Amino acid sequence: MKLVVGTRGSELALSQTQWVIDRIKEKYPKIEFEIEVIKTKGDKILYKSIEKIGGKGVFVKEIEDRLLHGKIDMAIHSLKDMPSYDVEGLKICDIPLREDPRDVLVFRDGINSIDELPENARIGTGSKRRAYQLAEILPKAEFVSIRGNIRTRIDKIKKEGLDGVIIAAAGVKRLGLEDIIGEYLGVDKVIPSPGQGALAIQIRVEDKEIEDIVNSISDEVSHLSSTAERAFMKGIDGSCHIPMGSYCEVLDDGFKITGVYGSENGDTLVYREIEEKYSQDVNKRTQAKNLGHRLADEIIDKFKEEKNMDRNKYGKVYLVGAGPGDFGLMTIKGLEVLRKSDVVIYDRLANEEFLRETKDGCELIYVGKKASVHIVPQDDINELIIKKAKEGKMVTRLKGGDPYVFGRGGEEAERIYDEGIEFEVIPGVTSAIGGLSYSGIPITHRDFASSFHVITGHPKHGGDDNINWSGLAKMGGTLVFLMGLKNISHISERLIENGMDRNTPAALISWATWHNQRSVVSTLENLEADVKKHGLTSPTLIVVGGVVGLKDKLNFYERRPLFGLNIGVTRSRTQNSKTIRQIMELGGNPVEMPTIKIKELESYKEVDKKIIEIRENKSNKKYIVFNSVNGVEVFFKRLKLLRLDSRFFSDLTVCSIGSVTSEALEKHGIIADIEPQKYTSESLSSDIEDEVNKGDLIYVISSDLSRKVIEKRLGDLCKVETLELYHTTLNSKDANKIIESLERELDYIIFTSSSTVKNLVDIIGDKKILLEDIKTVSIGPITTNTLRELGIKVDIEAEEATISSMIKSIIDNR
Ligand code: SAH
Repeated sequence: MKLVVGTRGSELALSQTQWVIDRIKEKYPKIEFEIEVIKTKGDKILYKSIEKIGGKGVFVKEIEDRLLHGKIDMAIHSLKDMPSYDVEGLKICDIPLREDPRDVLVFRDGINSIDELPENARIGTGSKRRAYQLAEILPKAEFVSIRGNIRTRIDKIKKEGLDGVIIAAAGVKRLGLEDIIGEYLGVDKVIPSPGQGALAIQIRVEDKEIEDIVNSISDEVSHLSSTAERAFMKGIDGSCHIPMGSYCEVLDDGFKITGVYGSENGDTLVYREIEEKYSQDVNKRTQAKNLGHRLADEIIDKFKEEKNMDRNKYGKVYLVGAGPGDFGLMTIKGLEVLRKSDVVIYDRLANEEFLRETKDGCELIYVGKKASVHIVPQDDINELIIKKAKEGKMVTRLKGGDPYVFGRGGEEAERIYDEGIEFEVIPGVTSAIGGLSYSGIPITHRDFASSFHVITGHPKHGGDDNINWSGLAKMGGTLVFLMGLKNISHISERLIENGMDRNTPAALISWATWHNQRSVVSTLENLEADVKKHGLTSPTLIVVGGVVGLKDKLNFYERRPLFGLNIGVTRSRTQNSKTIRQIMELGGNPVEMPTIKIKELESYKEVDKKIIEIRENKSNKKYIVFNSVNGVEVFFKRLKLLRLDSRFFSDLTVCSIGSVTSEALEKHGIIADIEPQKYTSESLSSDIEDEVNKGDLIYVISSDLSRKVIEKRLGDLCKVETLELYHTTLNSKDANKIIESLERELDYIIFTSSSTVKNLVDIIGDKKILLEDIKTVSIGPITTNTLRELGIKVDIEAEEATISSMIKSIIDNR
């Protein structure tokens, strides 16, 4: 009898084949053998990883085909190369004695054991199972992907400058290369591939005679362990993409099987071990198989549990609509989320004012257009969102308008969902509707349009734009095109071509709801010309339809008294918010120019001592003078730290320089006793002068920059003490920004105190010419004097020394 044996041609494969033949010959000396070498896909394509060329099976398929076609009588493979599925018509015989199942490390010269490896050792392996498990022993090692037969892999140590490679002990031993093994990795440390070290002898199902011959060399222990391990592999449907391994020990009284299973990228790796006594009811082979399946089920459950635990650690993503621009047009829910977020990822169309609402330490990431018109690719944005969420952060993805209106929000949400990350979408006011409202165009109106259509005007790269132009032209609804500026002539032409009247009213709205909103009424045919004529830039909305006719009547936004004005506000940042709000409410654009910064003292020891002294003095009549909001705030902060409250003022006469300072006091529950009509230190002094007597005490709360008017005027009458509570410093960091603002188009600039004037002059130096085309507004006579003294013209002086009065004077002036 002659048997033709098919095998791969590698040195190892041939030695395995020879080993099998020798074993059979021991039992059946008369059988002759012929070896046929067959090249497999895995042997031909060496430059790609196994998973890329098809995973398990790439080393066996061609051989199996020869067997099925009757060209060979048996095939010999490494059992670990065999896929878990059965091939119809073929079967694997009982497993012969298994070689060493372990993995081993082979080192470069100079390294003799795993302990001698450098911390960041470079280890070659193509297997995720090996790399991820070894990484648990060598956490800082780098794993370099290598492939090829055993000798090739060993050669790669030198060629690729590796510190070692990890390979199967069985192969090394079969080639008689045991000497090169540097370290055996125990099956408990690096769990081997199912069936590692064992051989598969494959035959045709119907060849019973050959089966008997092959089974004569089987080894029951090897068969049982391989059966259990392969059942495990089948149970988890293992491919090369996922790290997976198992090893079964066949003991005197039962089995002990361990398995490892993990995620593709190795971030989760779970281990499980089961011991089971031999059963009375089923034979050992069946029991081994069942055990493998059970291990698979249990390890998958454990894996899912861990994965879910991971997921519990994930943060949450909120896709938040920022609205079309106006700060006030975000939803309350959106703002609440924004304030709590750890990371905010935003782009160009989201108002940056929102970023000020974020908490301290919140990471702000801009992913919009850069100056170079470079856009962060959508995939990178998606990955960024996912990365931050996986770090456990609460992420706000802030998107202009509504997140799902042409913002690719849907794609982002899908990716987030696919990663198992929790998310919520907080809708926003889309520019397509809100932007129209702000320019006086209701998107529907019973007389003009009973439907509306929001269309992307962004040309698709090459080919058809996929828009049903004839439908749009005939439907009679309001048409709103987003992202249509570049494509505007195409839009007009298609609509006219499809029967829309070329004189249909149309409008262009740029930067809708922002302070610099511009809207232009046009007609369908003139759209392109009007974009050019008015120099409109993106973002711009294109509206077509009869509703445009209502614009004049309903354009409340552009009619507001300060609309279109850029007003420079020179005050310290902490004081600005109210002024800023007032200007914005009236439609102006406040440009913050913080020229002074409040700095607290290094030590309040002396101040605190004085405060206690004031409190304890019951014998004199006492006055306390506040001449700024900052003074009020810092003073109350001190009281609080001293565990005192507004009862402190019960025996004090409280004097305030003006209404703003009085308001600040009122917030703390104190109503000022004296507030002069004219908000200057001089008139406050006069008012106090009318009341005080010798022996009274006056305490002035001030800063180091105070003009000390009260001290000078009243010092002779009674005792005046100054409590310097804070420093006012020049905010040079913002100096460049200020100069830039002056150079750009400011229409007005308001000065609320002499110190803001002085600080501004310090900043701009001799560039007073910058102020020439800007109208200056002074809060009152003293500030006016300072301006004049410093060579700056004064265009407007407020009637009353209040912000409201200054603003009113601007409205009257424009
Ligand atoms: N999700 C956004 C739209 C994103 S697409 C929304 O719901 O509004 C971007 C396009 O929207 C821009 O090209 C422009 O046509 C339009 N757009 C967004 N904000 C705008 C604004 N404030 N003024 C004018 N057009 C705006």
